[in-house]
Amino acid sequence: MFLENTPSPDAGWIEVICGSMFSGKTEELIRRLNRARIANQRVEIFKPSVDVRYSEEHIVSHNQTSIPCTVVEAAEQLRLLTAEVDVVGIDEAQFFDDEIVAVCNELANRGIRVVVAGLDMDSEGRPFGPMPNLMATAEYVTKVHAVCVKTGRLAHYSHRKELGGPQVFLGESDRYEAVSRGVFNALRANELGG
Ligand code: ADP
Ligand code: MG
Repeated sequence: MFLENTPSPDAGWIEVICGSMFSGKTEELIRRLNRARIANQRVEIFKPSVDVRYSEEHIVSHNQTSIPCTVVEAAEQLRLLTAEVDVVGIDEAQFFDDEIVAVCNELANRGIRVVVAGLDMDSEGRPFGPMPNLMATAEYVTKVHAVCVKTGRLAHYSHRKELGGPQVFLGESDRYEAVSRGVFNALRANELGG
C-alpha cells in the first residue's frame, strides 16, 4: 500500500481508486483526504462539472459522507488551482478527457500526492475514458468492489438497466446496478436476445 500521509522529500505520487458504481470509491477517497487533513496537510478536492448529481459544492458518497470540493470544467484548470497544496483529490475522473493524465503527473512531479477516484469500466464493460492511462501511470492502484445485487457476491460491473444511450449517462440505482461477471453476462445475453 501507499505510504499514507508521509511527506515526500522530492516528488509526489499518484494513487488511483477504481471500481464499479457503488463499490465505495468516493467513500475511500473521502477517508484518505480526511486523514490527510487530520495530518494538517493542505488538501484541494475537485470533480468534473458534468457530475452534479447530488451537490455542486460537495463530493457525496452513496453512504452520505461528503467533503467540500471545487467543480472544474476541464482538467486544465487543476494546473492553476493547486499552487499551495500537499494533496489533491479528484473524484469521477472518468469524465475528464486524457489531459487529466498529464495534469496528474505534473502535479505528482511537483511533489503533490494525487488521489484519483473513478469508474474503471462503463456500463458496457469497456475501460472508461482516461482511467486506463491513469492506472498505468499511478504508483498505487486500489480496486474496490461492490456487492452484486443479484447474488450477493463481489460485483465489478455497473450494469445499465435499460439498453442503449450514450457512454456518459448520469444516473444512480434508478438506472444502474452493480453485478458480478456471471450476472452481467447473463443479463446482456438476455437483452441482446442471445
Ligand atoms: P462509488 O463512489 O464507488 O459509487 P460510494 O463510495 O459512493 O461508491 O458508495 C458506497 C456505498 O454505497 C456503500 O457503503 C453502501 O452503503 C452503498 N451501496 C449501495 N448499493 C451497494 C452495492 N450494490 N454494493 C455495495 N455498496 C452499495
Ligand atoms: Mg463515487
